[in-house]
Amino acid sequence: MAGRPEFDVAIIGGGPAGATLGALLAMDGRRAAVLERDIHPRDHVGESLTPSNNAIFSRIGFLPKMEQAGFVHKEGVGWTAPRSPVWKFLAIRTSDFPAPGAVQTYSYNVERDEFDLLLLRHAHELGAKVVQGATVKRVLFEGERAIGVRVELSGGWEEDVLARVVVDASGRRCFLANQLGIRRKDPDFNQFSIFSWFRGVKPHPPGYEGFVFFHFLGLERAWGWHIPIKNGVCSMGVVTDKANFGKSGKTHDEFFESLVQRNRTFRAVMEDAVRIKPWWIEGDYSYQMDTIVGDGWLMIGDAFRFVDPIFSSGIDVATYSASYAFDAIVKSWSEGEEAAAFAEYERTVNEGVDVWYETTDQFYRLQQLFSRFSLDRRYKEDIARALQGNPYKPENRDRARRVLKDMRDAYRDVMADPHNLLRPGALDVPAEAQA
Ligand SMILES: Cc1cc2nc3c(=O)[nH]c(=O)nc-3n(C[C@H](O)[C@H](O)[C@H](O)COP(=O)(O)OP(=O)(O)OC[C@H]3O[C@@H](n4cnc5c(N)ncnc54)[C@H](O)[C@@H]3O)c2cc1C
Repeated sequence: MAGRPEFDVAIIGGGPAGATLGALLAMDGRRAAVLERDIHPRDHVGESLTPSNNAIFSRIGFLPKMEQAGFVHKEGVGWTAPRSPVWKFLAIRTSDFPAPGAVQTYSYNVERDEFDLLLLRHAHELGAKVVQGATVKRVLFEGERAIGVRVELSGGWEEDVLARVVVDASGRRCFLANQLGIRRKDPDFNQFSIFSWFRGVKPHPPGYEGFVFFHFLGLERAWGWHIPIKNGVCSMGVVTDKANFGKSGKTHDEFFESLVQRNRTFRAVMEDAVRIKPWWIEGDYSYQMDTIVGDGWLMIGDAFRFVDPIFSSGIDVATYSASYAFDAIVKSWSEGEEAAAFAEYERTVNEGVDVWYETTDQFYRLQQLFSRFSLDRRYKEDIARALQGNPYKPENRDRARRVLKDMRDAYRDVMADPHNLLRPGALDVPAEAQA
């Protein structure tokens, strides 16, 4: 028989999802334990944030710390096509269509080691019990109900931490889903990415300094990212189908370079760039779970679901799922209906992430069509707003779904017409005509 729980909530992982939940619980006077395996600061992928995060940062009093840290202000996103002339691009500036009530129009490009450390420290300062070097080895169950976690501490000894609710925020480790055997890989997206930090990348055109750029590579489901961070450094990466790397027989340097060469702007900006960090490889995404809640437990952030990160959705998913999980946990205690509160959490966050997933899927189906919609007066605002995040809010979700439906219809029409120049490869030069 387990003893009285020492904590209200035990959180596995102190990344953005775990730290945000820890902060919200502490602000509400709850006893939250954030158990983090690493010692922060530690490197992490995912440097471009959506404006939606500002609302959560503001709610937990974190926005002033983002400003003090001096992170690069991200005022919008742009993208280039492989064969367009150098720096001919499409762009969406957030301030053109700010979300109603937005606390500010810009977002940030962050060094994740610094950002994650600041957010975790913020949770601690608000009163959450943050333990680093604490690796969760097992979620403990009594019958069907999660009652706590077994943790290995840095000295090597193990301890049981008992809590009323256990939340998995372990990121793409998916700790609890793996323990329960409920993680499902997405058969349609088997990508991998290779990236690093560079100096000497040529600057963006004036007026677009903090913009995040995506460089398309003329390959299915492949793209390059170009994120200016502090001190003249840029995070540059490529995402492609995993099979492309396996087949290429190239080294990491050669493979990265071969993809850079596929886009004129990407090639031009990288001409004098010097890599200042080792290559970082990420693979094995995307996935979802059979379920993300149960008796006494929930999953948040990457631990509950991961979609291709082209639209910088990761931290939006992390902070919003933390916020909805907080609401669900508190409601379950006040109303005594845990199953109903957790089911509502599951529905809300999954419906939101479905929108991120469909937007990505639609984009990959036909990049030219997506670009067309972004230029069309009727859809420009809808697309700009969708890319700002928070698809969990019903009005944002409905707005995004409307434009996605029109895109699907337009895609069907394009594909039904064999002469339509928007069809994939329609403008490719036939192999026999190439020099
Ligand atoms: C190639 C790529 C590019 C991306 N680009 C972007 C981007 O530009 N913008 C964006 O918003 N998102 C991006 N993402 C996604 C983003 O990195 C994640 O969505 C985000 O970090 C999720 O936060 P999290 O807190 O859920 O998980 P994490 O940030 O991964 O944090 C999980 C924490 O749990 C800890 N942990 C794991 N196992 C245990 C354990 N057993 N015990 C204790 N602690 C444990 C880990 O040490 C880690 O600190 C990208 C992802 C990839 C793969």
